Amino acid sequence: MNKQQDVESNKFSLLVIVLDTNPSQRIVRQNAQLLTQCVDAIIAFGNAHLMQCSQNKLAVLSCHHHATDFLYPLPGKQLDVRQIDGQYEVFSLVEKTVKQRLSHIITNSPKLNTPCESILAGSMAMALCYISRIQRNAAAGVKMHSRILVVTGSNECASQYMTYMNVFFTAQKLGITIDVCAMDKTMSLLQQGCDITGGQYLRLTQLDGLLQYLLWVFLPDPQMRQKLVLPPATKVDYRAACFCHRELIDIGYVCSVCLSIFCKFSPICTTCHTVFKIPGPMPIKPKKKKKV
Ligand SMILES: [Zn+2]
Ligand SMILES: [Zn+2]
Repeated sequence: MNKQQDVESNKFSLLVIVLDTNPSQRIVRQNAQLLTQCVDAIIAFGNAHLMQCSQNKLAVLSCHHHATDFLYPLPGKQLDVRQIDGQYEVFSLVEKTVKQRLSHIITNSPKLNTPCESILAGSMAMALCYISRIQRNAAAGVKMHSRILVVTGSNECASQYMTYMNVFFTAQKLGITIDVCAMDKTMSLLQQGCDITGGQYLRLTQLDGLLQYLLWVFLPDPQMRQKLVLPPATKVDYRAACFCHRELIDIGYVCSVCLSIFCKFSPICTTCHTVFKIPGPMPIKPKKKKKV
């Protein structure tokens, strides 16, 4: 083994894909076939990641409205896959496992009467836990690069603001890149996450060519991306959500003790219970008498 190969075998890249499978997404409600198209693109993209280096690892999580589940790998014993038409067994295993798990999740998920938001922040937190476990179990001296790719057609959900921020800053501290492919509206909170962790944010206006977009923007390693021509970064909307109503606000009150944000003045901080003085009316200065 020459020196180059020796260096290569000491590092690998872990990609965790968080796929929004919530049936409430507008694109899925309008055309359920789009979810199948999306899953096919994700499988091909995941396999392309595995193909780049034999040490590379992949995990796919499904984010629903009520739970997050692993689509690949299975928590216990993996499926038994035989070689088909000379295809590399790992590729067949990824495809078979993802499709089988997803159909199981969709048939067993509770029925929805009204659209319900996806628990994206929770799924991302689960992805962080998984990365941390793999990191802990990696052999000494092996370097691991991890990233999370979120593929979603959901809309902004400011109700998960606090979890999002915890996830973004944890990822930043652990050196994990967060990439986001938004398939419906602009998601300013996830855009903030990409900006904080040095990832790519891409909003697609149509789903044709999803796989091409994924391969172009998200397949290269973050280190490699500096050398490529990628979609230009857009201005990030850094508005925060108030802790009282979970709505994005431009101007608000900030607790000087715990930095919680509120849209209206409240005499007691609901997060840390600090009591503030109620601002009274401004003292009126006595007018100077004019000298006659
Ligand atoms: Zn509020
Ligand atoms: Zn406070």
